[in-house]
Amino acid sequence: MATLIDGKRLAQLENDKTARRVAALRASGITPGLAVILVGDDPASQVYVRSKQRKARELGIYSVQTTLPATAQQAEVAAVIDAYNHDERIHAILVQSPLPAHLDEQALVAMIDPAKDVDGFHPLNVGKLYNHLPGHYPVACTPRGIITMLDTLNFEYAGARAVIVGRSILVGRPLQALLVNRNATVTMIGRRTKAAAALMKTADLLVVAAGQPQLVTAAMVKPGAVVIDVGINRLADGHLVGDVDFAAVEPLAQAITPVPGGVGPMTIASLMTQTVDLAEWSQTDA
Ligand code: NAD
Repeated sequence: MATLIDGKRLAQLENDKTARRVAALRASGITPGLAVILVGDDPASQVYVRSKQRKARELGIYSVQTTLPATAQQAEVAAVIDAYNHDERIHAILVQSPLPAHLDEQALVAMIDPAKDVDGFHPLNVGKLYNHLPGHYPVACTPRGIITMLDTLNFEYAGARAVIVGRSILVGRPLQALLVNRNATVTMIGRRTKAAAALMKTADLLVVAAGQPQLVTAAMVKPGAVVIDVGINRLADGHLVGDVDFAAVEPLAQAITPVPGGVGPMTIASLMTQTVDLAEWSQTDA
C-alpha cells in the first residue's frame, strides 16, 4: 500500500502559511496584489481563473482581473500587461494560458515585468532556473508544488533516477530543471521516445504530465517508486482521472498522488505562495 500524497491537505497547510505571511505583510503596510488577465471564453480557463481569484481573496491577497474578448488584438493585451507592470498595488501578473491562437503568447509573457512574473514563464526567469543561478526568482507553479510535495516525503533527490513523461514548458521542462538542480538524474519522455515503458520502469520518481488517461500501467512502474500524476482528464462519464492507472499502480508504489486532490490543489497553493514571495522580494530586492 502506497502512502497517499494528500494534495488537498498539503495545500491547506501551505495556504495557512501564506495567510499568515499576508497578514504580516499587511500589518507592515503592504498588501500583496495579484492581477489575472483572461482572454476569450475558454470554459476550463474561466474555472481556473475563478478558483485562483477566490483563493487569493480568501488569503487576504488583493486580487484583480482583466477579461478581454477572444477577438482582442496583441496590442490590447500588451497594454493591459504594461498597465499592471506599472501598477504599484500589483506584485504578481498572470496571463491565463492558453490564449486564442492569433495571439503570440510567448511575446506577451516576455512583456511581463520579470519581477512580477508569478507563473515563472518569463524567459529571464526560465534562464535563471536552467542555469541554477542564485537569488530570488519565480518558477512554474505546478513543478513548484510537486517539489513541495516531495519535500514533505523527505524525498532523497541526490542520485535519484527521475523520469518525467511530458515536456511542456508548463510542467515537464521546469520540473526537469528543478530536479537536476537538486542532483537527481532526469530522463524526459515525449511521444517519440523509444522503449518509454522500460525507461519509466527505471524511475525512483515517476512524474506523468501527458494528458493521456491510463498512459501509465503497473508494468511501467518500479516497485517502491514515488509516482506523481499531473494529468487531468475528463472522461465521457464526467469523471476526472489522471494519466496513471491509479488502482493498478497504487499497490506497487511507495507514494502516489490521487487525481483529483493531488497536484491540482498544490498548484494553486504554490501560485499564492509565489504571489506573496514576489511582494516580499519587491521590498527586499528593490
Ligand atoms: P501539453 O499538451 O502542453 O504537454 C503534454 C506533453 O506530454 C507533451 O510534451 C507531449 O509530447 C507529451 N505526451 C503526450 N502524450 C504522450 C505519450 N503518449 N507518451 C509520451 N509523451 C506524451 O500539456 P500540459 O499543459 O503539460 O499538461 C499535461 C497534463 O497535465 C494535462 O492533462 C493537464 O490538464 C495537466 N495539468 C495539470 C496541472 C495541475 O495543476 N494538476 C497543471 C498543468 C497541467
